[in-house]
Amino acid sequence: MLNENQVERYSRQILSENIGKEGQEKLSEIKVLQIGTGGLGSPCALYLTAAGIGELTIIDSDTVSLSNLQRQVLYNENDIGKIKIDSAKKRLTELNSNVKINAYNEYVDQNSIKKFVRDKDFIIDCSDNLKTKFLVNRTSIKYDIRAIIAGVKDFYGQILNINPKRSACYHCVFTERELHKSRDSPLPILGATAGILGAIEALEVIKTALGLENLENELLMVNLINMTFNKIKVLKDDNCVCCGI
Ligand SMILES: [Zn+2]
Repeated sequence: MLNENQVERYSRQILSENIGKEGQEKLSEIKVLQIGTGGLGSPCALYLTAAGIGELTIIDSDTVSLSNLQRQVLYNENDIGKIKIDSAKKRLTELNSNVKINAYNEYVDQNSIKKFVRDKDFIIDCSDNLKTKFLVNRTSIKYDIRAIIAGVKDFYGQILNINPKRSACYHCVFTERELHKSRDSPLPILGATAGILGAIEALEVIKTALGLENLENELLMVNLINMTFNKIKVLKDDNCVCCGI
């Protein structure tokens, strides 16, 4: 049951006929694991926390640098040199103390991710590299956790919502061959582009939790130069890893 304070705090989303008090109660129970608290992760974590989910576990292993501030809106100039996850937890807790924030200063890999997946309803990829996106995808399938995976570059972005073993997964759409094409040098990225895609990631979590229409079996391609949002139907590949894990 929502208390008086929560009814007031969330009053504008409770007004939505797609949410209501019942939907808000559902949101207050979901547990989300978010990988990365940078350009995508900042808006995603802020909007999920503001919306009043139950628990948000954030993982990142970086410190804040000056060149992060153009897009990583969780941080400010006073955070430069500090551990990202500490500043992120402080900011998110100040925003909404109703949400349990777990923060880990760790590098996520195949082994370390295991200990974070327990009881989670969603895993969100907010990383800046394909290796982590494929890891999030495999983890989603292995532990049967809904996943949202997004990517951004310059003025462009893409996002997919994965219902493990039932919908197309990231691997059905992108092959790991892409990994070898990826470079270590930094990609161009606009803060507003990461902001839009990160906010859409939060939105997909919220809509999926509420049983609303979402980007399952559809890849959303966003072009912010000419302002087109194209949804491409994607099919589950019967020979993909998602059918064998
Ligand atoms: Zn697949």
